[in-house]
This record gives sequence, structure tokens and C-alpha cells, in this order.
Amino acid sequence: MSKHRGDFKTDTLCIHAGQAPDPEFGAVAAPIYQTSTFAFASTEQGAARFAGKEAGYIYTRLGNPTTKMLEDNIAALEEGVAALATATGMAAVSTCYFALLGKGDHVVASSAMYGPSRIILERDFARFGVASSFVDTGDFEAVKSAWQPNTKLLYVETPTNPTLSITDLAACSAWAHSKGALLIVDNTFLSPILQKPLRHGADIVLHSVTKFINGHADVVGGIIVFKEENLFKKVRSVLTHLGGTMDPHQAWLVLRGVKTLALRVRASQENARLAAELLASHPAVEWVKYPGLEKDPAKKALIARQMAGPGSLISFELKGGVEAGRKFLDGTSLLALAVSLGGVETLVQHPASMTHAGMSRESRLAAGISDGLVRLSVGCEDKDDLLKELKEGLDRLA
Ligand SMILES: *Cc1c(COP(=O)(O)O)cnc(C)c1O
Repeated sequence: MSKHRGDFKTDTLCIHAGQAPDPEFGAVAAPIYQTSTFAFASTEQGAARFAGKEAGYIYTRLGNPTTKMLEDNIAALEEGVAALATATGMAAVSTCYFALLGKGDHVVASSAMYGPSRIILERDFARFGVASSFVDTGDFEAVKSAWQPNTKLLYVETPTNPTLSITDLAACSAWAHSKGALLIVDNTFLSPILQKPLRHGADIVLHSVTKFINGHADVVGGIIVFKEENLFKKVRSVLTHLGGTMDPHQAWLVLRGVKTLALRVRASQENARLAAELLASHPAVEWVKYPGLEKDPAKKALIARQMAGPGSLISFELKGGVEAGRKFLDGTSLLALAVSLGGVETLVQHPASMTHAGMSRESRLAAGISDGLVRLSVGCEDKDDLLKELKEGLDRLA
């Protein structure tokens, strides 16, 4: 299937890519190869596999057929040459840092990136002599002025979490490559349905598959997709030694989730458009940030170039700041008060006290995450139920 990836459209790839028909029993669903190790037919075969002279499996930390199906599926969706599935999204992020950074290197990264992705650079990689600068990568001039002679990596989330700033990936990749550096894009927020960063020059795209790709709030996992074979081999060697690989049962659950990825992304995006309009017109709301509401002509053109849709994440602030936010969050019943995003259920969270609580208030404010900011991850419920719940919650604040 994966050899035909160019022939099929994205919705078809979600369902079929990476999953060859089962030659033995004809099973339509992927078999779960729940085994830690694989027997060799002979010592000669074992030696050939270890030497990399013969394809085949050795030990599940190094590779597993069910996990490989998921890797091939997401590689096809992201238009990469290969992928590596990881135990969590953070295993994907930390493995890339570990594989690509060394003492004396410098990283430029999006200031409002996922909290732990920033914290490990600031706390842990700083201990190993890696320096980092955090800027609004949506401002290309800021990327250029943060650059240093030893910058080896530009790490971007677009849209950013939770400020929804949009970064120009083509401009950033051209810049990074002209300086001999790599561009990594965390594409968790949009999924490959709405954005394919490798097309815009990224070297690596990664995901927390916990979010849209699995989509059912029942698995944590991550994946790293590569534009080129050499980088894939380098990171694979580090991942299999560090050990943050994905378990076959986990991979099977994600393969089950990814089949409906395109349907879920479109349904939640439709709800999000309506929710964003409601929020924007409600007197209890101070401001709303949603790519679909962008007014700036340059940003609108960038969104049209780079994204196939605005997605289903909305940030907003209520009049009355933190107190109003608390009242709104505690008063909802259909909207679950939970971190995470990209599932079929709508979730609301408060970054200042939850996902970004590990950052100092100063760097949080500098990254645009105000105390009263509320993040909404819109799900696939019926639009009438969702809008009614939102409107009632907002009306209670008046
Ligand atoms: C959740 C998330 C991560 C981390 O993923 P886990 O699966 O929780 O380890 C990384 N980046 C972004 C943008 C996320 O939303």
C-alpha cells in the first residue's frame, strides 16, 4: 500500500496507508503483533538481521510490524520517507532534541510552544550546554534577529499553543537551510489533514498522536516523520537506544483512530467556525483568537497558502479575567474541563493554571498567554448542543 501513496487522496490514505492485506487469513483489521522478540530461522539469519543485511524483525524496541503499519500510515499522510512512532509526544520531541543537539549548539524556538517542549530546553538541555532563544516565530524578523552563528535548529509550532500565532514555514525553512540548520515542525494542532509541513521545507514533522491523530482521548503516543532517509536513520538509532518507542498494542489503537482522522478534523472544524463566531459576537468576551477570524491580509494569505483550514482550536479571554474564566469553566457540563485537545469531545482548559503553569508568569505573559486566556478544543458533538452550552455559559457571566 505504501508504495502507492502518491496515487491516493488523503482520506483514502488515512484508512489504507501502511496496511497491506493479511496474506494468511485475510484479516481486514491490522493484526497486533504483541511480542517482545522475534525468532530467527537460523544463526545465519540472526546475524544477517543484526548486520542490517536482511530485512526483518529482531526485538520490539527496535521495530515491530504493527508499529511499522502506523509509521507507514503517518509517513504517507505527511508525505515523508519514513516515520518513527514513540511512546508519547514528548518522547518524539525529546528524542529529536537528543539526536540533533550537542554541547555548544543553539536553538531558536516558538515562545508559546507546548509547555514541556520548552521546559526541557530551558532546564535540561541548558545543563548539557545547549542554549535556546524563544521568540514569536510568527514574526519572521524576530526569528532572524534571534539567530546565532551556532544555531543548529529552528523548532516551530504553528499555530502556537495556545496563542495561535501562525509561522511562515517556507520562509523559515529557506532561512534555516541557508544557515546550515534544520527545521522541525510540531504539527499536532492541525494534523496532516490541514497542514503538511514537509511540503513547505521542514526536515522533520512531529506529532503528539494523543491529540487529533488518535482522536479518542484514550491513548498517549507520538510520531516523528522525516523528509530524508539520513535523518531518519540518525534519529532511529537514538530512539531505539533511548527506548522511547511505541508499544504494538498502542500502535494498533492509534491505527484504529487514524482511519477517521479526516472525518473528525472536518467535523470539529465546522463546529469551531461556528463557536468562534459566537464567541466573537458575545458581549462577555474580551477577545477571540482563531485562524478563521484572521483580519490581517498578510496573515490571511499565509493561512491560505500553508493551511487547508483553520482547525478546531480557539483561544479567548472573558471580560473580568481569571474570575470570569473560573466561573465559566466551573459552570459548564457538556464541555469537559481537561487539558489535551483534538479528541471527539470538546475540552476547555486554562493554560495559566494548567498546561503552562510550569513557566514563570513573566515568560508566560511575554509569550502572549494572559492570566485569563481560555483554550477551547472543539469536538464533534452536534453543533446545536455545543453552541447552546457555550451561549448559556457566556450569558451567565452577564
Ligand atoms: C500534547 C502535546 C505534546 C506532548 O505530547 P504527549 O503525547 O502529551 O507527550 C507536544 N506538542 C503539542 C503541541 C501538544 O499538544
